[in-house]
Amino acid sequence: MDYTKQRIGIFGGAFDPIHNGHLVVAKNILDSLCLEKIIFVPTGDAPHKNIKSDKKNRLNMLKLALENKSNFEVNEYEINKSEKSYTSETIRYFKEKNPYAEIYLIIGSDEFIEIETWHNMINLLENCILIVALRPEFDNKNFLLDYLRRIKRKYSSNVFLFEVNAQNISSELIRNRILLNKNIDFLVPKKVCEYIKQKDLYRHSLKINTDAIKKFLIKTLSPRRFIHSVCVANIAVDLAKRYNGDVFKAYVGGLLHDCAKEIPNGEKIRMCNYYGVEVDKILMAQPDLLHQFLGASLAYSVFYIRDVDILNAVRYHTTGRGNMSLLEKIIYLADYTEPNRIHENVKYIRKLVYEDLDRALAYCLKITLDENKKRNRMIYSLSNEAFEFYKEKL
Ligand code: FE
Ligand code: FE
Repeated sequence: MDYTKQRIGIFGGAFDPIHNGHLVVAKNILDSLCLEKIIFVPTGDAPHKNIKSDKKNRLNMLKLALENKSNFEVNEYEINKSEKSYTSETIRYFKEKNPYAEIYLIIGSDEFIEIETWHNMINLLENCILIVALRPEFDNKNFLLDYLRRIKRKYSSNVFLFEVNAQNISSELIRNRILLNKNIDFLVPKKVCEYIKQKDLYRHSLKINTDAIKKFLIKTLSPRRFIHSVCVANIAVDLAKRYNGDVFKAYVGGLLHDCAKEIPNGEKIRMCNYYGVEVDKILMAQPDLLHQFLGASLAYSVFYIRDVDILNAVRYHTTGRGNMSLLEKIIYLADYTEPNRIHENVKYIRKLVYEDLDRALAYCLKITLDENKKRNRMIYSLSNEAFEFYKEKL
């Protein structure tokens, strides 16, 4: 840290809604790091991010919350952008506006663990000092500390953990309390509370909760598999946009597709009995395949997902099947092509998926079948069925 320079904090987030926890975090960081000011930068509307109220309402609530707070400002740079907004660009924007200042980017621990999936992340880390605000309820602190050390080492970047002594408040908690008709007066600034009531916000939210899904995945998957799942979700979103699919379902399907992947094989078989998944001879010999069926069962029973298309996208993401829905194809191909995949032909398929989805699918199915034959593995019936259905697209 350079104490001769002006120091500016950038606090990005959905602020859906802004709450007292955000304000305590900002005030703590402002005082402890002797920042001149903190600029709150609300994100634009990203359909897959599960944002519940539109940007105008989120902005209005922020303005109400920060009224008369001299060291806090709101900036509309991201919210006014018509195209997709990336944090690396936002930081560059503030850097250009304040060329002599040191920029401190404040993010939450749940955002930090996905940082390697961010656009232009290396450039971002070069242009700012990262402050990771650790929420008191973040129950996987060791995971976070390991990850933080890894990022510091790998990118020789300035990353600091800031333990916040704040109440256990999150926007999700507030939204859930509103859904349950519970009081939120003590969780948000008074004017924000009045605004929420006046506009009747958050009372009709979709129940699928991507934050809860991610928390579950962090607990049950290795860091590598967790990052893979987030990458698949992000690619699935891009594909859904390209083919006019449902972006939110694509994101949820991508996150969940491997949720049962790391359950030990013996346990997989036992759970299949419990959930009524039939385990035939081939599945017995290749129990890894079970994770697609079990994944769908967990999505149904743990996350109460009742959308058949999402469940099927998880259920058939490894084998495929005949006559797949758009979402099923998207999850299958996002899994095949996400940026961490390095197998042969992946570059070609990454291009092909944006040109001809069915052809890309046929191509991947063929590669998988050939690979299995080469290894003398029995071919599972669904994989055969899928290839027979799509082979004419080759
Ligand atoms: Fe998988
Ligand atoms: Fe996968």
